[in-house]
Parts: sequence; C-alpha cells; structure tokens
Amino acid sequence: MGTDTHAAGLEGTLVERGDPEYERLWTSMVWNGLKPARFPEVIVSAASERDVPRALRLARSRSLHVSVRSGGHSWCASPLREGSLLLDLSRLRGRTVDPDSRTAEVQPGVTGGELAAELSRYGLAFPSGHCPSVAVGGYLLSGGLGWNPGVFGPACASVLGIEAVTADGEVVRCDAGERPELFWAARGAGPGFFAVVTRFRLRLYPLPSAITTTAYSFPLAEAEPVARRLAEVAEGLDPSVEAGMTLATAGPEVSDASPRPKVVSVTATAFADSRREAVRSLAPLRDCPFAERALVRREDEPTCFASLYEGGDGVWPREHRYAVDTLWSDEDLGTLMALCGEAMAMAPSEKSLVLVPIAPASRNPELLRDMAFSVLGRNYLVPYAVWDDPAQDADQLRWLRRTMNVLEPLGTGHYVAEADLPAGLSRAERSFTPDGWRRLEALRARYDPDGVFPSYLPR
Ligand SMILES: Cc1cc2nc3c(=O)[nH]c(=O)nc-3n(C[C@H](O)[C@H](O)[C@H](O)COP(=O)(O)OP(=O)(O)OC[C@H]3O[C@@H](n4cnc5c(N)ncnc54)[C@H](O)[C@@H]3O)c2cc1C
Repeated sequence: MGTDTHAAGLEGTLVERGDPEYERLWTSMVWNGLKPARFPEVIVSAASERDVPRALRLARSRSLHVSVRSGGHSWCASPLREGSLLLDLSRLRGRTVDPDSRTAEVQPGVTGGELAAELSRYGLAFPSGHCPSVAVGGYLLSGGLGWNPGVFGPACASVLGIEAVTADGEVVRCDAGERPELFWAARGAGPGFFAVVTRFRLRLYPLPSAITTTAYSFPLAEAEPVARRLAEVAEGLDPSVEAGMTLATAGPEVSDASPRPKVVSVTATAFADSRREAVRSLAPLRDCPFAERALVRREDEPTCFASLYEGGDGVWPREHRYAVDTLWSDEDLGTLMALCGEAMAMAPSEKSLVLVPIAPASRNPELLRDMAFSVLGRNYLVPYAVWDDPAQDADQLRWLRRTMNVLEPLGTGHYVAEADLPAGLSRAERSFTPDGWRRLEALRARYDPDGVFPSYLPR
C-alpha cells in the first residue's frame, strides 16, 4: 500500500506498477490463462462502494483512464489497459434478497454461482451465466445469455435498476423512469460502458422444480444433418426448453479411443415445474429420427442448477488459454454447422470447441425491449480455441481467426461479451444495431466527454 492510498482516502488497497506485489496481482486480474501484455499503472482493489468516486478522483489527478473489473472473466482481458487505473470491484460481493417482492440487490463482484446458491434457499432463480464463476458485473452489462432464456430472456431484461458512479464522480440511480438513457446503455453496452456500476436491482423468478435434461452425441461428420433436424424441432419447442449443440472432442462416455474422435452433441434442458411437464416438453427431441442414430443418448434425466453449474465449470476449466469469438447469422443452421464441423476437424487443439445455443436470448420481443443488447440474427455460434502451451498461442489464434474468416461472410453481428474485440474495431460496432451503436456513442460523448473510461478494445 503506497502513500496514494492514504492521500485518496481509500479503504481498499492500491498497488503501483513496479511495486513488488504488482505482478502477482496483475496475473490474478484475468481469469483466462492467456494474458495480454497490457499493464495498468495502478490497481485499486475497492473495499466499499465509497472507494469508487475516490478512485475516479485519484485517476483524474494522475491523468489516467479508469478500467473496471468485476470478476475478470472478459476473454480478451478488457480490464487490462495501458495508461489506466484498474478499479477492481471483485470484493464488492454484497447481496440482499427480498422474497416477497421477488427482487434482489447485488454488488458487481457477486458470481452467478453465489447468487444461484443464495436464491435457491428462497426457492427463487435468476438467469445467471452458464458458468458459476462469472461475476454479475460484466455479464449483466453485456446483456447476459444465461439459463432458461426462452422464459427469462437475456439477463439484462431482469435488471430493474442500477446504481452507478459517472465519470465526474456523481453517484446516480437509473431505471426505466430515472435516467432511462443511461439505464438503456447499462443493459448491453458491456465492456464499453461509460460509468461504474456499483449495484444492480434484479427481478427474480420462482425456481423451476423439475429441471430435466436430454442429450445425444453423433459423429462430427453428422453435424450438418443433425443441425437441420434440430432447427426444425427447435421451432416447435416450448420456450422453457433451452437447446443447443456442441462440437467438441468426445468425452470418455462416448469413446475411449486415442486420439478421441470429435462429436456433435445436442443438449436440451427443460425448466419445468413437474416431471410430467418436463418429459412432455422434451418429447419432440425423443421423437426426432436423429435420436435413433445417436452414439450416446441420455433422456429425461432430472438435474438442478447446482449440477448445471458443475457442467458449466467442466466446459471451461480454469487455467487453460482461451481465444473466443461470436457470430450471429441468418444463414440456416445446417450450412453453418457444416462449416463449423470442417473447422473443428482442423482444430490444432483437442480442447477447442464450438458452442451453438439455439435462441440464446429468447425469441420473444417483449423480453428484448429498451436495451442496448440486441439479437442480431436467427442463429448464434461461439468458437473457442482452448490450449495450454504458450508456444502454441499464434497457431491457436490463427485457427480461431481463420474459422471466423470463413463464417463471417454469413454473419450479421457479434455478442460483445464474448467477441474477439482485439481482432478489429468493427467487432464492437457490429455487436449492436446501427441505431443502437449511434445512440451508445452519443451517450458516451454526453456522460464521459473526457474519455475517462477507455471504450472498447482494441482502442
Ligand atoms: C468461463 C466463462 C463463461 C462465460 N459464460 C457466459 C455465459 O454463459 N453467458 C454470457 O452472456 N457470457 C458468458 N461469459 C462472458 C462474460 O459474461 C463476460 O466476459 C463478462 O464481461 C464477465 O463479467 P466480469 O465481471 O468477470 O467481467 P470483467 O472481465 O471483470 O470486466 C469486463 C469489462 O466489463 C466492464 N465492467 C465490468 N464490471 C463493470 C462494472 N461494475 N461497471 C462498469 N463496467 C464494468 C469493463 O469495461 C470491463 O473491462 C463467460 C465468460 C467466461 C470466462
């Protein structure tokens, strides 16, 4: 802790670039094992919401930008910026639940897993992200593609209000009635938001009591026909069924051959209130002719949020190196999956995968109103390069970018939370509708005229 900590009146800690503890702290700021060489001048770990305006004042006095971190799960390490004060909010983990009004107040460092565990005590749920360790801060600001999207919508649809500190240090509340334009931006602007959110007020839902999963795996070569069938089936699925495909190396339950073959898996989870309802809503998958041809089929297995989160942790193990991109597309799913299948067959790492969630933010326009977040296409996919050896960084990134070069001509946009923002300036802009982007940039000019917050990578 340097003298600046006292001068700024911080309750938390301040570590300068060059201090002995800087490197360890810097390393811990990003969840991804791949850490870009961008070095903030100062890292402030806030101990309270009061530290936020103090850190902003300190940054101004030193002519530094302010980059914000809630949980450090940005794949492209958006909180790491040159010439910045990195304001780490991960210690702000307060949460209060009001079961009567079915609302909660949460601070940005709370993780989805912590929130789900707390809510389950009250028989309540919230559409947190699919991996338990993702903090609500960056996730909610980006839109949030979480569990049960057909019913809950993107997570930001359930954000009722925020408390934030603006670039000039003012503490403001925003909701549909008060500062609605800043509230609109806070529901989707993600890693380019131009204020620091210290609290979110959330709408909660009754916990579905009969969560049930069905899954099938097929050889990778079947990706296209399986996708075509799934696309037909998905049209008729109840909104309470979350369906998707994964292209990945087979798990031990599919094959113990070495090297393991690659497979395409279809998973569907029903968020129902009775076993009967769950089994009924998953029936279109059981009845689909592809079910007969599956290498592995698991049908109507009861599960719960805790198990779903355990599965999420398994998809994204810690300590690997990750490079990720996203694509919305209006092309048909079969054509997209044929291309993804070819890309997967050439992936230089066994750990890489492509996720293809079906309607990941719902198709209900009522759940997509008054937010910067937009559904930009009929289909959506996310390729992940995953590896361990730093010597392979260039090869793995090349695979991801080649895959995207093939897919992009069929694309209609990106999802800002998981887009490969360093790949080019257009990634951020193409994560919004043209009107949405113009509105965001106009709001940025109004709320942050001096550019205190660094906007989207790669700027
Ligand atoms: C393993 C894993 C699984 C994921 N699963 C999902 C998923 O299921 N659905 C989904 O939608 N996304 C998912 N994501 C993406 C995730 O939502 C984003 O990376 C998100 O930014 C993570 O939130 P964070 O608070 O950790 O972000 P951080 O890395 O801490 O911050 C990223 C950026 O967000 C902004 N920011 C963060 N907090 C604040 C704040 N309080 N105030 C102002 N600005 C802030 C800053 O600009 C910051 O640079 C996943 C990511 C990982 C690594």
